[in-house]
Amino acid sequence: MKYQRLRNEMVTKQIIARGISDPRVLSAMRKVPRHLFVSEAMMDQAYGDYPLPIGEQQTISQPYIVAEMTQALQLTPEDRVLEIGTGSGYQAAILSHIAFRVYTIERIYSLYVRTRKLFDQLRYHNIVTRYSDGTTGWKEESPFDAIIVTAGAPEIPSVLVSQLAVGGRMVIPVGDRHSQDLIKLVRDPHGIHQANLGGCRFVKLIGEHGWRDQ
Ligand code: SAM
Repeated sequence: MKYQRLRNEMVTKQIIARGISDPRVLSAMRKVPRHLFVSEAMMDQAYGDYPLPIGEQQTISQPYIVAEMTQALQLTPEDRVLEIGTGSGYQAAILSHIAFRVYTIERIYSLYVRTRKLFDQLRYHNIVTRYSDGTTGWKEESPFDAIIVTAGAPEIPSVLVSQLAVGGRMVIPVGDRHSQDLIKLVRDPHGIHQANLGGCRFVKLIGEHGWRDQ
């Protein structure tokens, strides 16, 4: 009850108040128990207006950025979505309420294992997980209707763009190590269109087509 109240408040004060209006996004954010995606010590902070540490120097993103990126993907219930950067699993859980199936990749083994277990416990049966470098995408399952990258890239990996279906949407933070712009790409029959949704700050996307160092 307490967490449901905190969740409703989060949606009203942080998400709707900042202009997010997609009913599917708002409904998913009212449902997913965000406090179960952080450590027990942080549960009471889970609905705050900020990111939180999840171990391994990684973070669960601020609720608003999760909502903004999800809305930008313009998802429908038939869509197959690829996420790079599983982390806590919260973003994937939100996507799983809206889309048909979510494919999510994590490069840190301990996070991958912990989150896979959580998805099983919470019965998120339409989330498929993989432990690998997500900057090369998931060729066997491509093309995807939507791709979301939840770590900051030095540039847009062209291999990910090549795994986007015609009509597909992608969101990715692009910039330097300290700050990025949230870029939205749309692939239509004529080519790729790009828009800048504004500034953001993410941990680094590390891999073959991301940052090379730790
Ligand atoms: N979506 C996550 C959530 O809801 O908690 C946010 C996770 S955090 C901001 C970014 C994650 O991206 C980290 O867990 C990090 O290990 C992962 N990551 C960074 N580079 C990656 C790569 N090349 N492939 C897969 N995951 C990567």
